[in-house]
Amino acid sequence: MSSTRWEITFDGITYRCIKCGFCCSCKYWRIYLSYFDYLKLREDYSHYIEDVRGSYFSKRLKVGRRGCLLLTRDNLCRIQIERGYSYKPTMCKLFPFSFRVKWNGDFLLVIRHYCRGIRMGKCSEEMIRHAIECCEELYLDQLEEIRLMGMETSTRCKLDEREYITWEEREELGRYIFSSASLEDLSRRYREVANLNIGGEVAYIKRRIERNIKSKRLTVEREIIRYLGELNKREIFRKLPLKDELYRLIKIGVELSGYRDVLKGEGIIDLKLLKGILCSLKEVRSP
Ligand code: SF4
Ligand code: SF4
Repeated sequence: MSSTRWEITFDGITYRCIKCGFCCSCKYWRIYLSYFDYLKLREDYSHYIEDVRGSYFSKRLKVGRRGCLLLTRDNLCRIQIERGYSYKPTMCKLFPFSFRVKWNGDFLLVIRHYCRGIRMGKCSEEMIRHAIECCEELYLDQLEEIRLMGMETSTRCKLDEREYITWEEREELGRYIFSSASLEDLSRRYREVANLNIGGEVAYIKRRIERNIKSKRLTVEREIIRYLGELNKREIFRKLPLKDELYRLIKIGVELSGYRDVLKGEGIIDLKLLKGILCSLKEVRSP
């Protein structure tokens, strides 16, 4: 593994590929090829490759109505069948993982919850190592440029419209809030840290869990808190003052509590985040 610092954002979540083919047919992303992917594939698969401009890559796979043209009717990858796993594009091998840049320039390894094989559990070290190697292989010498562009240049960020805190403090506060063992605890910490009253949202979430979930309610409650903590680590809302971010996260918790299967709900929310829908929060219902 490289000397670059990587932080895992999704502790408690793992996946097992169920070969559903969703990642090969999803409309919302494309498979870009590293230079080495292109060298491997250009002879036998040139018909499936097209040029692209304005991205870190100059080549990508073509898509049709069913997504990747190399996806067989049995949801299998033609490249893997014909040439073996090592020939698959790096971006395909990386899924369902991806990465972001943290405020301090470290890399954040994230998992895409809309992979259909997502489940509770722990990723093996080998799985994590493989994902990081794929990220590094895919972007190679561009990784440093991505890091510099993605990190914060100021030392401080907003707590609210008037008060500033350091990025370290913000991270520490997020860790404290989302290590809550229950929704009541979360509510108490929201008030303590940010003077935010989320009592109404918490009561609403609990009512919904009571209504929708027959057993393991505490597990669901904890999973909702874990997922919100994951989003906080991913720092998707980090340009906002911390209080605004916390407010948005609890609204996402409200949305999540509407799904009987919380992991499936996380997948749907992740897809909305990918499409930018939840950044405006138009789709998040209030209690
Ligand atoms: S979406 Fe997930 S489970 Fe489905 S084929 Fe892709 S990696 Fe496997
Ligand atoms: S190349 Fe194979 S693994 Fe990659 S998107 Fe196409 S079918 Fe899926």
